[in-house]
Amino acid sequence: MGGRRLGDQTKQALATASSNLSPITMKFLANIWTILSNLVAQRQDDLPDATNGCRLDIIIVGGGMGGLSASIQCALSGHHVTVIEAARELAETGAGIQVTPNAAKLLKRWGLSESFWSSAARPSSMNFRRYSDGTILFREQDYGPGLKRKYGSETLNISRVDVQKGLYDRAKELGVEFHFGTKVVEIDMDGGRVKSAAGLEFKGDLVIGADGIWSRCREVLLGKEDHPEATGDLVYRIIINAEDVPAGELRDKITNPELNIWFGPDCHAVSYSIRSGTALGLGLVRPDDLPPGVSKKEGSAEEMRELFRNWDPILARFLDHVKVVETWKLMHRQEVETWINDKGNFVLIGDASHPMIPYLAQGANSAIEDGATIGLILGKITSKSQLPQALQMFQTMRKARGEAVARESLKMRTFYHMRDGPEQQERDSLLEKYSDSKRTIEEKFPLSWVCPIFQPWLFGYDANIEVEKAIESSPFA
Ligand SMILES: Cc1cc2nc3c(=O)[nH]c(=O)nc-3n(C[C@H](O)[C@H](O)[C@H](O)COP(=O)(O)OP(=O)(O)OC[C@H]3O[C@@H](n4cnc5c(N)ncnc54)[C@H](O)[C@@H]3O)c2cc1C
Repeated sequence: MGGRRLGDQTKQALATASSNLSPITMKFLANIWTILSNLVAQRQDDLPDATNGCRLDIIIVGGGMGGLSASIQCALSGHHVTVIEAARELAETGAGIQVTPNAAKLLKRWGLSESFWSSAARPSSMNFRRYSDGTILFREQDYGPGLKRKYGSETLNISRVDVQKGLYDRAKELGVEFHFGTKVVEIDMDGGRVKSAAGLEFKGDLVIGADGIWSRCREVLLGKEDHPEATGDLVYRIIINAEDVPAGELRDKITNPELNIWFGPDCHAVSYSIRSGTALGLGLVRPDDLPPGVSKKEGSAEEMRELFRNWDPILARFLDHVKVVETWKLMHRQEVETWINDKGNFVLIGDASHPMIPYLAQGANSAIEDGATIGLILGKITSKSQLPQALQMFQTMRKARGEAVARESLKMRTFYHMRDGPEQQERDSLLEKYSDSKRTIEEKFPLSWVCPIFQPWLFGYDANIEVEKAIESSPFA
């Protein structure tokens, strides 16, 4: 239970009960109360010391990528953190995610467990292919190791639930409190209060809205109904276990991790190994045909195979092994003017603030950067009165970047989905010229993954360094 809740509610329950109880029962309850109080006190003692002597009570709505990341960094900065999550447990939703160096370096600093690191697959090459026959349009043979050399950190392909579990385990070690199966329905922003559907109330000095693309927190901040908009694309998310495909070429493709992206008319496909190279995560994007209001649905494997029947034969062979498939409508949102309230005790992070389509695989990476940044800034404050300035600093640092990544991701949709014709031929011949490092790309390049201006800006970002720079130029008054 949240630190403030446990004390008040338990005391109240004991007081109400005491009027009707025998002395023996009273003594028994008092002993329980002492044990519980000691447990809570002990957990508070286990927390790291507040870096600057100011310990905040922080409520995080949503235990996804951003919420869990913020919980770790806020706890490391010495604050008391409570995460409220609607889902009953951390469960596999969707397939894998790519964690790029900008986020992987943060996970390393946070000291995630060995089992987390061993659950990742590390892609060697990155291949962009033509849909119809798998011809390589552009390849970087040394993709993962090359990024590590350039940006000092790994690129991980990993099952989404493995990331969540790695973050959750670390947050628990740091004393973060979790309430699963607790959906927030009411938020009093200025009062720092949130209320669950079951009527539980939590109060903090700061509320962080990390409740994802369907954010309730965002609506409260905007003061109006605000629904995500359909992008027009839909994705099939699939996991194929290596042991479920015959030994030989197909299985080798899984156990030797690489990143493949196929460009096709109005569609694209992405594949990479996950779970230490024992499974393949596949995402197939196609035009959306789900009715308005339906965001996720079990799909038909037959229909999917039919749609991708004339694609690269290796892809079609993988699809033959798919039994169950999920379809997700890909959503986005307009940029908003602010992510923080006027009082300076409420902030949005992750998809709640800057959702992005996954065509540069950056939604989770950006949410992790957000979580690190807010926690690091809050490690620098020396009094609660500095909270508004801290949130303003967070917004200045993160808003322009988050929104720029979202816009760049949207650009990739046009680049990937060209129909066959002169524009597509021009794209393919440009890519081919630079494939396999035949020539050095020296100026802005339309494939953002390898653009020499965009890539270092994206993957070279270091939240710790950025926070130090921001504090140096605007120290807290
Ligand atoms: C097909 C696909 C592929 C992707 N691939 C990648 C990738 O390779 N790399 C990458 O970086 N990103 C990827 N993303 C994007 C990434 O998944 C999201 O951007 C990321 O999860 C956002 O993190 P978040 O914490 O903001 O939201 P989420 O991770 O969605 O977490 C929000 C949490 O809030 C909870 N919640 C919601 N409402 C409430 C409420 N009212 N009360 C309490 N809890 C609530 C939810 O249950 C959820 O756990 C992909 C997305 C898709 C759809």
